[in-house]
Amino acid sequence: MSGAGGVGSRRAALLVAAVLGAALVVVLVVVPPWTLLPEPPGGPAPAEPSSVLPPDVLEQAESFAAALRPASLISLVLGLAVSAVLGLTRLGARLVRAVAAPLGGGRAAQVLLGTAAVVVVGRLATLPVSAYAEVVRHRYGLSTRGWGLWLRDVAVSTAISAVVTALALGGFLWLVRRAPRTWWAWAAAVAAGLVVAGSFVHPVVIEPAFNRFEPLPAGELRTRLLDLAEENGTPVQDVLVSDASRRTTALNAYVSGFGSTRRVVLYDTTLERLPDDAVASIVAHELGHVVHRDVLTGTLVGALGAASAVALSGWLLSWTPLLRRAGVQSPADPAVVPLVLLLLSVGGLLSTPVQNLVSRQVEARADLRALELTGDAGAFTAMQRELAATNLSDPDPPAAWQWFFGSHPTGAQRIAFAEDWQRLEDAG
Ligand SMILES: [Zn+2]
Repeated sequence: MSGAGGVGSRRAALLVAAVLGAALVVVLVVVPPWTLLPEPPGGPAPAEPSSVLPPDVLEQAESFAAALRPASLISLVLGLAVSAVLGLTRLGARLVRAVAAPLGGGRAAQVLLGTAAVVVVGRLATLPVSAYAEVVRHRYGLSTRGWGLWLRDVAVSTAISAVVTALALGGFLWLVRRAPRTWWAWAAAVAAGLVVAGSFVHPVVIEPAFNRFEPLPAGELRTRLLDLAEENGTPVQDVLVSDASRRTTALNAYVSGFGSTRRVVLYDTTLERLPDDAVASIVAHELGHVVHRDVLTGTLVGALGAASAVALSGWLLSWTPLLRRAGVQSPADPAVVPLVLLLLSVGGLLSTPVQNLVSRQVEARADLRALELTGDAGAFTAMQRELAATNLSDPDPPAAWQWFFGSHPTGAQRIAFAEDWQRLEDAG
């Protein structure tokens, strides 16, 4: 990028990134429900972990978490380090050219094979840590996968990720070449569009590809769940049961579809393990997400975040010292791939605690809705205890860990919240 046009376009990218980023900050401050119960500010003190789980299960959950946390951190740091080495030295550029050489070294081969190579190298670097984590899950009885299936799962997910990323970067570099000064604006719009499209495609394409669904037979529970949805002001057409137990022991439920196709889906594991009152609590929580349009809001916020990140990358990728460090001539050079992937990882890492901060508030609001709909704090806390015991989740993880990785309030917080709600109900 040289000449007045390049500099102007660089400034424009930074300005747009700043404006979109500021809009994002405003949305993130205004949209989430920061206060849910009248007092105390910041929510009630978490319940004592020993009141959440029986002593032996608590000890198991805590030692399980203690064994897994270092693995997660090492995997995160290792992945980032590999990405940084490839993105910030000439090694990455060399890798991109080397893997394309047998196919003649053309531009398309460099972009597609180079991207796949960087993805695979990153996955291989963290593979031993993933294997260790799987050993830990086996030891605690949470995974029932054999090693053959584990390896197959790793291979399939790495392949999908390599192909999707390669196609995305192929499109990206095509745009950069077609519109050398304004690519970042087009790419920002495309990224936002892809976030929205993904959110709609997922329940329609991915869900049926992995699970089978059958209607919950007519009976007391079915009637009760349909009534709950009616009372929530978000009637559903059907209550379905998915065959989730083929893959997992986890308990879950969700609501998918829009308007007349909206339906409640229950994992068969949930129906097997939980009493009807607890199932009603879980479904009421999901209905809380529906009534507050959390999926739609999350999608739009995600689209805004993606657009501002791409605009910012338009500024960074025309910064000559950065390109020179990566051994790249211009952002249209296929050797830019490792640098783009590094920016993606760093962006993902930085946005994680922000996303989780918002997610925890939104989840707490769905909990509040569940309590209001069912009026049954006892069933809610019983459900939380059963979830914590089944998934061996530490009810009270270290604060820094929860701040960074926690997408939901902790079990101890959710139980204290329900008890506080009950106390206010009784007082009022
Ligand atoms: Zn939720």
